[in-house]
Amino acid sequence: MEIEVVQHAREAFVTGRSRPLEFRLLQLKSLLRMITDRQGEIATALKQDINRSQYDTPLFELLGLENEIHLAVSKLTQWAAPRPVERNLLTISDEVYIQAEPLGVVLIIGAWNYPWALTLQPLVGAIAAGNAAVIKPSELSEYSASLIKSLLPRYLDQELYPVVCGGVSETQELLRQRFDHVFYTGNSTVGKLVMEAAARHLTPVTLELGGKSPCYIDKNVDLRVACRRITWGKFVNCGQTCIAPDYILCEPSIQNRLVEGIRQTLLEFYGPDPKSSPDYGRIINQRHFNRVMALLDGYTAAVGGQSDAEQCYIAPTVVKDVPPHARLMQEEIFGPVLPIVTVSDIDEAIHFINEREKPLALYVFSSNKKVIKRMLSETTSGGVTVNDVLMHYTISSLPFGGVGQSGTGRYHGKHTFDQFSHLRACLIRSLGMERFNMVRYPPQNHQKASRIRLAMRTPLVDLSRGTYVWAVTASIVAVGLLVALTVILILAAGVSCTCW
Ligand code: NAD
Repeated sequence: MEIEVVQHAREAFVTGRSRPLEFRLLQLKSLLRMITDRQGEIATALKQDINRSQYDTPLFELLGLENEIHLAVSKLTQWAAPRPVERNLLTISDEVYIQAEPLGVVLIIGAWNYPWALTLQPLVGAIAAGNAAVIKPSELSEYSASLIKSLLPRYLDQELYPVVCGGVSETQELLRQRFDHVFYTGNSTVGKLVMEAAARHLTPVTLELGGKSPCYIDKNVDLRVACRRITWGKFVNCGQTCIAPDYILCEPSIQNRLVEGIRQTLLEFYGPDPKSSPDYGRIINQRHFNRVMALLDGYTAAVGGQSDAEQCYIAPTVVKDVPPHARLMQEEIFGPVLPIVTVSDIDEAIHFINEREKPLALYVFSSNKKVIKRMLSETTSGGVTVNDVLMHYTISSLPFGGVGQSGTGRYHGKHTFDQFSHLRACLIRSLGMERFNMVRYPPQNHQKASRIRLAMRTPLVDLSRGTYVWAVTASIVAVGLLVALTVILILAAGVSCTCW
């Protein structure tokens, strides 16, 4: 079944119909129409999957997706156009450019925590770049997955963009097929399996993974604002956000105020009983519920700690004075539990971050520019936001992705287009001007060798072809004018001489 789907997608790609820009634009606009037309059904599916509030669905799931489509529609001509590059003396009169071209048939494996955004945002770039794409939504968000499966064929070319639903075995079967790119969002254990499977075909991968994203809070900060922003980013979607702050690092002197600040904010956001708040989500399933609860074993919560297995409910929870090597600090929490680890100063905080895997996101709260600068220059992460959380994700011009264990490759906006394109190196020459090429042919001698070295030194001309032609024309006109002026002056001098 999966084999046939991939075969049909390839046959459809080979027809060439996904390539013309007009076709890509039509598909993108149709995808946008689907999201607009079906907002209600999408919100209902998300409510069933993860108890997503009706207001959070547009804000966290659809707005970014719509923006990505609008951007792709408005910029596609520019993204797909040849990109002229610098030349050297040997290639000065040639056309030298990069041409983005479709890769072929790509596989997109989505995750369940934001099943629409994480599955369809990569698809926007795949379509924009002219590919066929096989879409595999996560089976964990089953209502969204089956809605994606039923809606997409009504709006998009069915053969070019088929949806495959199913669990691990279907994904494994898909991964045995040959693709031209695999784009996977999910945990790093499966990420390794995806990479292994892709390696068998030498298929390039984008791995959007997770990990423990630290949040350092300097004592020199407005704690009320910091607590509000952190509480929002940590507990939205019940903590199941890949770039949610996973844990807090701060000095012992501010820990208790921080706990109080978060407690107050939670009260403002979700009232005294978050379980009955329409704005508070649920854990995706029983397995993940048990996993998160097991992480809390042996701790007394400073805030929250209540749970209800039947509803997959875990209250927003803060745990303080967590030892650096505790189980809570070993794996990504991916749930509404926020541990606080105290450090003596910024040096210890930087050391703490650097001795762990490179995180997907890093957050720093401080009013001190030196602290911010040190954190940025002495650590690394996929992305970073200072004095807020999650917000770097919302900017399409910023590449979104991990580094090291938190992922490989990047997307959003033009970065998605490039990720799904082959950036082809193009050099177009004429058969003329052969005299200039003689220098590179044998028999070689010292003079020819030094000439060729000079000619190949790059970059010589930092101009696009259009500008280059203009510049050459301008130079010829200037030289012409100079010659004309000289002749006039000589003639004038001659006339004066005659007068004498
Ligand atoms: P998941 O369990 O839904 O898995 C994602 C996909 O992998 C599914 O389609 C599933 O069928 C497939 N899969 C699962 N096990 C497999 C196996 N053994 N072989 C082949 N395929 C398999 O998602 P998840 O991993 O639970 O998602 C949570 C993780 O994803 C977290 O670590 C989170 O940080 C990360 N995440 C990252 C991003 C990002 O953009 N970087 C976004 C969301 C989630």
